[in-house]
Amino acid sequence: MTNPLKKRQTTLIDIAFSFVIFSLIIAGVFLVFTSGKNEASSNSDDKNSFSPTPTTIDTIDSNYPGIKIVTETSNDSFAPFAIQYPQSLHIEFNEAVSSYISKTKNDYIQTMKEYEEKKGKLHGELNISFETLLHHSGNYSFVIVTNNFTGGAKSFNEIYSFHLNPETGENLLINDVLEHDLEKLEKLAERVKNELVNDVDIKEYLLTDKMNTELLPKWDNFSNFALTNEDIFFYFEQYKFTTGAAGIPIIKIPLEKINPIIADNFKAKEITQTPEGTEDKINQDHDKKIVNSKNNEQTSNLAGDSEKQVPPVKPVALTFDDGPHPEVTRQILDILKKHEAKATFFMLGSRVEYYPDIAKEVQEAGHELGNHSWNHPDLTKVSDERMHNEINNTSIIIEQATGQKATVFRPPYGAANDTVRQQTDLPVILWDVDTLDWQHRDPTQLLTIVKNHTKEGSNILMHDIHQATADALDNVLTYLKSEGYTFVTVSELE
Ligand code: ZN
Repeated sequence: MTNPLKKRQTTLIDIAFSFVIFSLIIAGVFLVFTSGKNEASSNSDDKNSFSPTPTTIDTIDSNYPGIKIVTETSNDSFAPFAIQYPQSLHIEFNEAVSSYISKTKNDYIQTMKEYEEKKGKLHGELNISFETLLHHSGNYSFVIVTNNFTGGAKSFNEIYSFHLNPETGENLLINDVLEHDLEKLEKLAERVKNELVNDVDIKEYLLTDKMNTELLPKWDNFSNFALTNEDIFFYFEQYKFTTGAAGIPIIKIPLEKINPIIADNFKAKEITQTPEGTEDKINQDHDKKIVNSKNNEQTSNLAGDSEKQVPPVKPVALTFDDGPHPEVTRQILDILKKHEAKATFFMLGSRVEYYPDIAKEVQEAGHELGNHSWNHPDLTKVSDERMHNEINNTSIIIEQATGQKATVFRPPYGAANDTVRQQTDLPVILWDVDTLDWQHRDPTQLLTIVKNHTKEGSNILMHDIHQATADALDNVLTYLKSEGYTFVTVSELE
């Protein structure tokens, strides 16, 4: 008797229990569904997140006559991008560049969209920047550098070159440089392979057999090149004949070493304006303009003031990374000025190059200038040479643009090891309050994080490239002042 009863009770309990679980599941599913819906409808940014339409497009004149720089940026929280490319007065060139750029951009957006559908959202990042090289033949080489990170461990980097004679609109081909002569191409191919085999950064990652098949003397195999008055550069695809750690294989050959195989027009000249010389001249002219506009009086007054200053009470350092940005940085400068607050700006060399005037405005407003590398790579994962260039070129361009040296260094992602530290004499500065402004892009959340984490001596990390950060700043400063905090630069805090 007891047994069946017990069994029956157990069954009833089981049924009741199952019902409760079932109800909980239904409720759970309902909650997930509705909260998901709310999120989608409340965050209109997300709706647009995978639209190929960028948030902003900006066109400015470059230092090179006839060349404009187009900047497309999207502050999407999952698939942001920052893209810069050249445009000229010549349609064919413009279309070739634009279609290359839009293919890369659309592939990236498409990949991020597929991630969203399959596995939920991942954070990606696409950065495209370019360098302009001049040759005495009148040809420009535009070297477009793509860093494409689509979440997880997936990243893809590429260098791709375009050529233009700005007078004629003609595209320069490697065939022209070698007088359309196949024998000369064979000699060039041998020379390039020889350089690869002996390159200290590449040789240990080189797959020699693959290299030999990929670098047969065909014009297409050597079409990705750039010319200066002194050197010719060749760029190759990542992973094509090297293992991952080699990065993008780049070979530089002094023109004088291959004078016999190149057309007269392109030969190295005995005494010539070097490309650096030419660029320096342009940069010097540019500098003069900057130096002339520099308000020396203001600078010395500021220095005088800081000597007299008594130690500040409850100091905190506000820091802004990844700029300058043509709109957001200016808004931030205005708000800082309103609150008479000094901050530190850790700038990217690549952005200072495009927005030297904004960098200058930061300096003129009396803020501290920081170096944040040229292109924002994880410096612990790049070659020593690249690391050196990332840091040094940034210090150089900051000084060129502002007339003042960067005094502090912050490695991208806060990633620093001994090798990184040895590359610079500047103090390496991290942070203790991470506002996560790049992630949430929400002024209210930014303020909450500051409220919850700031203490005397805090170093607060923000980014002067996001509109939400500028939107939050007034309230952040008002709050911090009300709590008795004062604002100092990073060096004053240390
Ligand atoms: Zn950064």
